[in-house]
Amino acid sequence: METGPATEPHTSRDEVLRGAIERARRSPFYAQHLDGHSLETRADLSSLPFTRKQHLTEQSPFGMLAVPAAKAWHYHESSGTTGEPISTWSGLSELKRMASRVHGMVPELDRETILLNRFPLFAPVSFVFEEALRQAGACHIAAGNLSWDVPFTRALEFIRRLKVTAISSLPLEPVLLRELARDQGLDLATDLGSVELIFCGGAVLPPALRRAIEHDWEARVVEIYGSNETMLMGVGCTEGRLHLCGELLEFEILHPETFEPVGPGERGIVTITSLVQEVMPLVRYVTGDLVRRETEPCPCGRADETVEVLGRFEETVEIDGASAMQYEILDAAYEFADTLGTRVFFVLIRPHELRLLVELDDPSRTVSAEKERELARRIGLPVTVETLGPNEVLDRSAMFRTPSIYKPNVITDWRKPGRKPITIMEALLEWPSFDGRTLFHLGKRQIKNALRRRRLSREDAARS
Ligand SMILES: [Zn+2]
Repeated sequence: METGPATEPHTSRDEVLRGAIERARRSPFYAQHLDGHSLETRADLSSLPFTRKQHLTEQSPFGMLAVPAAKAWHYHESSGTTGEPISTWSGLSELKRMASRVHGMVPELDRETILLNRFPLFAPVSFVFEEALRQAGACHIAAGNLSWDVPFTRALEFIRRLKVTAISSLPLEPVLLRELARDQGLDLATDLGSVELIFCGGAVLPPALRRAIEHDWEARVVEIYGSNETMLMGVGCTEGRLHLCGELLEFEILHPETFEPVGPGERGIVTITSLVQEVMPLVRYVTGDLVRRETEPCPCGRADETVEVLGRFEETVEIDGASAMQYEILDAAYEFADTLGTRVFFVLIRPHELRLLVELDDPSRTVSAEKERELARRIGLPVTVETLGPNEVLDRSAMFRTPSIYKPNVITDWRKPGRKPITIMEALLEWPSFDGRTLFHLGKRQIKNALRRRRLSREDAARS
C-alpha cells in the first residue's frame, strides 16, 4: 500500500510515525541504533532507545544523515558543551512546512510586513523567517546580529528609516536596541513606532521580559521555540501561549530523572521524534530543554499542546542545596529592575549567592534590605543587589565601536580623499579611531571592571 505525505488527513498518526522511523533507519546511526527495535503504533515509541546529544557529537558530521550530504539544503555546526562540534543538516521541504507554521499562526505577517531579521545567517532558524516572509509575500531584511554589515546602530537606523514593522531576534536584542535608541535621543513611540511585532527566540522568554518588551515597543511579542537540531518546535499564538508543532514532531515530555511521561501542570524534558524531516531525522531525541505543561486548553482554539519553556535543564542553578532555573532568576530580575525603572542588569552566579548588578541613572539610590530579601524569596536563592551608574553594566558606546567592512580588494586609490589602506586587511576592515577622551573613559571603565572582578573573586575564595 502506498503511504501519502505526512500531512494528508487520511494518514493516521501511527502511519506517520512508522514512515518516520523507516526514514530514520536510512542513516548509518539509526540503522544500528534501532536494530532489533520496531514500531507498529505510537504506543511502541516508548520502547525505542533515546538519542542523546552525545550521539550527535559522535556521529558528526555525516553519521546522522539519511540522504547524501549534497541532498541537504542547509548545514549548521555548533560547539557543544564539550567543545566538540555538532553537525545539523536540514532539508528544504521541512523548512517550508516550518515557515508555513509561523506564517499561519501570525496574522500580522502579510504583504505590508517589513521584517528585520537579526538571527545570524549561519543559524537555521534565520531561514525559517526568510521563508515565512516569502510565503507571506513580504519583505525580509537579512540583518544577522553577528555580521559586521549591520551593527546595532545600523539596525536601529533601518527600523527608523525603512519603517520596519517586525523584528526577529534573541529576546535581549529589543532591550539593547531600546537602550541604544534612548542613548541616541530617539523615541520608541515616534521614531521607531512602526514596529508592531517582535519574534523572540533562541533563549528563554520569561513573562517579565515579555511584558517589558511589549510595553517599551508597544508591539506584540511572538515566542519562537526551536534549536539548531530541530529548527522549529513551537510558535506563540495570539493568546501569548506557546504551541508545540505537532505536525512536525512527535513530542514526549519526560520526567528529568525517571524519563517517564509527566502529567499536565508538571515539568519535563522535551523529547522529540521527527515526523517530516528527511535529511537528518531524529528518534526520541532528548533535547535537554525543561518545559512546564499547561493544564488548560488554549482559548485560541488550536489543538496543539501549549507549554512554558523554562530553559536547559543542565543550566539549573544550585546554591547550598536550593535550586532555581535561569528562567526564574531572569523573570524575577526583570521584574525587580522594572520597579527601579531600568532594564539593564547583569546576574553573577557565585558559589554562595547570586549578585545582581543593576544599572541606575542615580547609583546612589539604595535598594532596601526588605526589597532584596523579597527578591531572594521569589527566586529561592540568596541574592544581593549592587547598584551601578550609567554605562557600568551596558557600555552603550561599545555598540558604536564596530569596524566598517569593505569588499575584499588588492588595489586602492590613494589619490582620493580619505583613508589610505596599505594592506589587504586594512582595505577590508576599518576600526573606528578614538579621541583621547574616549580612550580615557575606556581605560577607566576597564580598570573599574577589573577591580570589581578581583574584589568579588577574592570574596568567593575567602568563603569557600
Ligand atoms: Zn493558543
